[in-house]
Amino acid sequence: MTNETARPAAAPQHELLPRPAKPLGRATVLLPLPVGDGYDYRVPEGMALEEGSFVEVPLGKRQMLGVVWRLGGDSAVPEARLKDITGVLDVPPMPEALRGFVSWVASYTLAAPGAVLRMAMSVPAALEPPRPVTAYEADPGFDAEALRPTPARRRVLAFLAGMPPLPAAEIARQAGVSAGVVKGLAEAGALRPVLLPPALPPEQPEPDRKRADLAPDQASAAEALASGIGQGYRATLLDGVTGSGKTEVYFEAIAAALKQGQQVLVLLPEIALTPHWLERFDARFGCRPTEWHSELTQAQRRDNWRAIAEGKASIVVGARSALFLPFPALGLIVVDEEHESAFKQEEGVTYHARDMAVVRAYLAKIPIVLVSATPSLETMANVESGRYQRVSLPDRFAGAALPMIQAIDMRASKPPPGRWLSPPLVEALRGTLEAGEQALLFLNRRGYAPLTLCGACGHRLACPNCTAWLVEHRLAGRLQCHQCGHTEKLPDHCPACDSEEGFKAVGPGVERIAEEVLHLFHEARFALIASDTLGGPAAVAEMLRSVRDREVDILIGTQMVAKGHHFPMLTLVGVVDADLGLVGGDLRAAERTYQLLHQVAGRAGRAEHPGRVLLQTYEPGHKVIQALVEGDRDRFLEAEADDRRRAGMPPYGRLAALIVSGADRNQVEATALRLGRAAPRQESIRVLGPAPAPFSVLRGRHRFRLLLQAPRGVNVQAVLRHWLAQVQIPHAVRVSVDIDPYNFL
Ligand code: ADP
Ligand code: ZN
Ligand code: ZN
Repeated sequence: MTNETARPAAAPQHELLPRPAKPLGRATVLLPLPVGDGYDYRVPEGMALEEGSFVEVPLGKRQMLGVVWRLGGDSAVPEARLKDITGVLDVPPMPEALRGFVSWVASYTLAAPGAVLRMAMSVPAALEPPRPVTAYEADPGFDAEALRPTPARRRVLAFLAGMPPLPAAEIARQAGVSAGVVKGLAEAGALRPVLLPPALPPEQPEPDRKRADLAPDQASAAEALASGIGQGYRATLLDGVTGSGKTEVYFEAIAAALKQGQQVLVLLPEIALTPHWLERFDARFGCRPTEWHSELTQAQRRDNWRAIAEGKASIVVGARSALFLPFPALGLIVVDEEHESAFKQEEGVTYHARDMAVVRAYLAKIPIVLVSATPSLETMANVESGRYQRVSLPDRFAGAALPMIQAIDMRASKPPPGRWLSPPLVEALRGTLEAGEQALLFLNRRGYAPLTLCGACGHRLACPNCTAWLVEHRLAGRLQCHQCGHTEKLPDHCPACDSEEGFKAVGPGVERIAEEVLHLFHEARFALIASDTLGGPAAVAEMLRSVRDREVDILIGTQMVAKGHHFPMLTLVGVVDADLGLVGGDLRAAERTYQLLHQVAGRAGRAEHPGRVLLQTYEPGHKVIQALVEGDRDRFLEAEADDRRRAGMPPYGRLAALIVSGADRNQVEATALRLGRAAPRQESIRVLGPAPAPFSVLRGRHRFRLLLQAPRGVNVQAVLRHWLAQVQIPHAVRVSVDIDPYNFL
């Protein structure tokens, strides 16, 4: 854990102190722009404003929306040069805790406050008064055939049959057509407009709707969490093996907050992919929570943002950006799967949502619960130092056994050439199928093969925009770059030697494993789960249902299957390549591999049926494999912590990365070298690089990296600010700062 988040008392206190009274008449307004930290405006006579009010102001020739950051203002701009605030929006002012948080995140990440504000104002439409929505429905009296509809129009008509009225954009999205198609049908009279009232307020959860009968240690864990509600800031790790009832337990803390009339935020990684969680919530509290993630439509975002701002949404479940929602009465934050690296935002303002959630809770003076079966080293370090409390659930609920984990030594049990499943794993699969149970084969690699080369000259097919190989996706019939998304058809001759000899696939992806399964077990029904083989959340939900209803015998998947799904008849998990995550020099390679494989293993045997997990590995002696086989998590964490402590690495030291990028390699390298020469020269601080990034070209931009390492006591932000101020950065070059980097590519 980083210094600031570990000890939020180190927050820039000036943001929290009351400001000296200033004459009204002027106000500093922060705009959601990546530059500057606010402009002063005049407050027209009679305009009622408070700090946090959303206002409209002129900027150059434009009108913009912003937030009153300070009444009274404090810039040196003479009164006469100030422009007037144009208007105040009819929406609750941004709460002080959120404004403080925006400032804090900006100063911690070295982003402009406006860039952080932009995340808190991501739905400008929500600031407007709610209006009735125009929706469309099929007109049953209209003879659509007379129009001789195009295939796209037919899709819309088929989709709308029996559907309630929907906004045009929603119809277009769901039917997979352009908005013009829907408009055209409406103009032709095939669809008729209907006015829908503005959104209804969200349903209210009932705290006591259907409480689980908690086992004694669950009950005392729930009591420990619930008793903290309304008692100010406190961070607690809820630590328990998969299936121990952590979700049931934190539901009790949620119920306690709801009873006190408070709002609750639950952060989940990749929220859209956990329909199961939403169903459980519904069963417990009698309604769906308000959701916040990238799969929402614009209309849903607007309605949800507003319901949250008005305090009408009492429970919000969201991805990391939900931290920036304007809760007026937030009383509890829960971060489930706190160890997940998906909580790190890598683009734009780079922040770690778990760490920032702790800050958010601290600033709002409310409790936060971090939940995991495999806590991060950061969180464990905070538990050890006493900054976080720990509440433990040591056993699986109802005595369900933990799965037995074994390693398969691939040096001794080689698969036949061109195959990836070793004889012992194939045997185990056969046994599982014969017993009528289900198996999961896990390989964290999408597509058919990670590398494709020319059969004649060995040329490797690479992305034109990145330093990355193209990955064959045979089902889609294309090659794909997993860095930038570039796709192309498999060429018919080699771009290097012109040979038409054909290409060779090297190594397996999940599609290739599916092929092998098909070859080995003709009769078995299998399903492939990877982010590119399934459409949206609805397709994922349908797939999960078909597994639960036992329409599938063998599940083959990437990390998408590792998350929280629960299949009672799944008794065998085969990890195709347990070493995959361990290659490469990533600081957290061992920790992450442990977490991921532990989580995958947890899919096996959650109900009455005991589970078995087989790890295919070429390094059965590796500490990660050993820890999994022996089930000794804490010893692994301690050993890992020792290594990090000795190397001065997080959570015992601090890191910050500078990534220098641009289209012109020479200019990028020259800038990186100048930064290197201006690097801070303090004894305790080390700067590595500049060096070309492992992906030295990404999306056509050349990249160099510098890495700063410092002891925990150092104010890294101050060091970086001073450093960056020394070097003139050309316009065409970008320097991004990544505090506490998780990605070293
Ligand atoms: P975790 O979040 O630790 O993985 P869950 O809360 O998902 O554990 O619980 C695992 C399973 O056990 C779930 O199906 C859950 O409904 C069930 N369960 C846990 N505790 C209880 C309880 N006290 N009463 C009934 N079912 C429970
Ligand atoms: Zn060739
Ligand atoms: Zn690419």
